[in-house]
Amino acid sequence: MSFPGGTEMLLVLAVVMLLFGAKKVPELARSMGRAGKEFKSGLKEDTAVESVEGPCPFCNTEIPASAQFCPGCAKDAKEIVSARAAAVLEKTA
Ligand SMILES: [Zn+2]
Repeated sequence: MSFPGGTEMLLVLAVVMLLFGAKKVPELARSMGRAGKEFKSGLKEDTAVESVEGPCPFCNTEIPASAQFCPGCAKDAKEIVSARAAAVLEKTA
């Protein structure tokens, strides 16, 4: 059994409202938009040359701004950046 597109959308919306409550829907849409934006800016950052200045997430060695890898444990910029991102995600979860 299939619904016309409009009815289907209304049904989906009704289910979403039942699940989250009508008041939460704009909030949910906002946070989804924000997540999408952050995802996009994350992708952009990934292609740019990253500065990994600051303490290393693996060995806590202070990494100079010009370095592309940790002088303490030799982890490269990509590993350091993703480890930091994972740590941020854990904090906000
Ligand atoms: Zn290190």
